[in-house]
Amino acid sequence: MNLLASWVNRVAATRTDTAALILPNETLSYSQLLDRAHALAQQLECTRKTVLAFQTASMTEVALSAHAASQLGRAIFPLNPAFSPQRRDALLQVASGPVADGVELFIATSGTQGEPKAVMLGGANLQAGVVASRIRLPLQAGDVWLACLPLYHIGGMAILYRCAEAGAAVMVHEGFDPQRVWDDLEKYCVTHISLVPAMLARLLDEGRDSPPPALKVALIGGGPLSAALALRARDAGWPVCASYGMSETGSQVATLCDMLQGWVPGQVGSPLPGFEVDVVGEDGQPTSGIGRIRIRGAAVMVGYANPQRKMGLGLDQGWFTSGDLGSLDAQGNLTVLGRHDDMLVSGGTNIHPQQVEEVLKRCQGVADAALTSVVDEVWGDLLVAVVVAEVDNEALGRWCRDELTGAMRPRCFIRLSALPRNALGKLDRQALRDLARRKLE
Ligand code: ATP
Repeated sequence: MNLLASWVNRVAATRTDTAALILPNETLSYSQLLDRAHALAQQLECTRKTVLAFQTASMTEVALSAHAASQLGRAIFPLNPAFSPQRRDALLQVASGPVADGVELFIATSGTQGEPKAVMLGGANLQAGVVASRIRLPLQAGDVWLACLPLYHIGGMAILYRCAEAGAAVMVHEGFDPQRVWDDLEKYCVTHISLVPAMLARLLDEGRDSPPPALKVALIGGGPLSAALALRARDAGWPVCASYGMSETGSQVATLCDMLQGWVPGQVGSPLPGFEVDVVGEDGQPTSGIGRIRIRGAAVMVGYANPQRKMGLGLDQGWFTSGDLGSLDAQGNLTVLGRHDDMLVSGGTNIHPQQVEEVLKRCQGVADAALTSVVDEVWGDLLVAVVVAEVDNEALGRWCRDELTGAMRPRCFIRLSALPRNALGKLDRQALRDLARRKLE
């Protein structure tokens, strides 16, 4: 038995009838979940593997398999159904090598920069992450956390752990359907929901007259939350909490719930209890300016199962150096600027795409925007804005001249009906670069 199982067993013993899993066709109480997990575990028991991996598009199956495997004390590895057989086999191969003691969850990163990394999280990591989350975001028995993020991603899987520890219910959605999310927010009095910003935007687009009636927390992470979207959500009565986290830390590192007037995009508040966060310069030493975000604490992963995939990014004396740039203010509040690899250099100036995107999204008539570049002899990176917009290029150009310094201004605009994003709603920056190069080089 591992951590997830020990929590489920404890709740099942004391609060038998409390809802544990709200699935598309049925609701299981904690004791029913336990019965179902044991029945499935019997079928799985014949395999002696220490890691049970499953690749399925059914999030119901992922949730039930995770509970069954945890009752057997096996580590679990939910795999993105979109992974090719080659990618899946490569990940399975590394996960079936010698496992570090206590590893309970393998989770693949999104692979936004190439091959996904197989992150190993131990029971102690998961426990620390869940406890830290609960201090920042109260969660109790009777609460319902809607999981419309895929459960093979840390943002979705972490919900199973948080709810089991608190005796709350997980509502599992098969994919993201804004109408269904709205219906269930109302019908099941959902109290918590995790979303990437693109999902929040779609929910607001399909909005109802009144805000979700019981919602206490809308945890928004996985990518940058723009000021325009945060304001829209707040005006519509959504309890938005800007969050920063990653697979390597078992989800949340910092979360900001009281996003008061004056909130600046990228601000995600102070680190959760138990996390140390600092920012290091190119020399690897802490800096008071902008640098790479480093994280240390009990929730930080055991390591990568496939460390060769990401040379230089691992643990150093407990510190995990992320691929993200950010800064800390004097009070220790973190601002996330974007990924180091996404930074552009135009005319000798470092440009963080998120800052330009933020300005573009504030322009009236712009629904979505991304910044990319094409290679140019003079500029190095010649900035190209890809927009989903109703305003014409002339008006956009005027807006950029008024709002951005010279080096930050896009030199060309490309229009699309939707930006390329992966299944998690994260921008596919490689696809953007390819598109710009095809059109302009
Ligand atoms: P890969 O490294 O394989 O490309 P990934 O970095 O997307 O995948 P995940 O663990 O899926 O790995 O996502 C974590 C990343 O998401 C963070 O490192 C950061 O880049 C981004 N992210 C998370 N929260 C925020 C946020 N609030 N603002 C900006 N970016 C965020």
